[in-house]
Amino acid sequence: MILTVTMNPSIDISYQLDHLVIDDVNRVSQVDKVAGGKGLNVSKVINLLNCDVLATGITGGYFGQFIENQLKQLELAYKFYHIDQETRSCIAILHDGGKQTEVLEGGPVLSEKEGQAFLDHFQGLLKDANLVTMSGSLPKGLGSDYYAKMVDLIHASGKKALLDTSGASLADALSAKPDLIKPNESELQQLLGQKIDLDDEEALKKALSSEVFDGIEWIVVSLGAKGAFAKHNDQFFEAKIPKIKVVSPVGSGDSTLAGMAVAMDSGLAPQEVLKYGMTTGMLNTMQAKTGWIDPELFTEYHDQVQVVEK
Ligand code: ATP
Repeated sequence: MILTVTMNPSIDISYQLDHLVIDDVNRVSQVDKVAGGKGLNVSKVINLLNCDVLATGITGGYFGQFIENQLKQLELAYKFYHIDQETRSCIAILHDGGKQTEVLEGGPVLSEKEGQAFLDHFQGLLKDANLVTMSGSLPKGLGSDYYAKMVDLIHASGKKALLDTSGASLADALSAKPDLIKPNESELQQLLGQKIDLDDEEALKKALSSEVFDGIEWIVVSLGAKGAFAKHNDQFFEAKIPKIKVVSPVGSGDSTLAGMAVAMDSGLAPQEVLKYGMTTGMLNTMQAKTGWIDPELFTEYHDQVQVVEK
């Protein structure tokens, strides 16, 4: 079973408006409310691939219940740790021919006691998991070394830790040596304190070989329509993907992580792990829904991904 972690989930609300009027009333007829957060996107894609998944993280109040109800409808198993504060909502207003205005709540602020209680809850779930994905930001109140603590617990139980986060929570987790990280261009630059030209293969190889990444099995730099470049132990791989019709790229990185987790869980070779990630990433871009794929198309697109050692 793959255990997925979403520490700060949200109800993602989207409003479609022809025109957004500031400082006046906007009436909306097209409303969508979905259980969101990067880790929940990962969970949904793993579920759609028909693999065993258990979603955990922190939920609270009526909004937390809303999230759990939606997962129940998707027949996606979950065991969240419950707090008294309400789970957050994030609003995206799609307006004026392609513009997107977002209003994002910060979410609950956790006490040290709640942080420790979640770690205890999490530790209890590890025995049934083969590997764990952790995605997204940490709730306020938890130290930036919180993911490092989780990675230590995962490793102590002999399981693999796949981490997709950014900023201080990523930087502070590196010393715990997660088994996979997925930094994008700005995260790489932030971690290394220098500009990296992603089109320069030698520069990219050098960057991924930096001391800060020592001991991390997988470093995956996904490059949108250009595929990905990755380091697996001492090997480098380039993944090339076919040109496809993109409907919405939101959540493609999460879908990539889901595909890689499924392949790793099945014990597939590194090239196949990357190929799975590219396939699920692409399949997500072909859907309007975030964190969603059509599994029937998997083989067709998987066969068009090329992974070469560099
Ligand atoms: P996000 O944070 O929005 O989830 P990300 O920056 O982590 O995304 P991307 O590199 O944009 O991740 O996308 C992940 C993968 O999804 C890519 O490696 C590729 O396989 C697929 N993908 C994303 N965008 C496109 C696109 N425009 N065309 C084809 N495939 C895409």
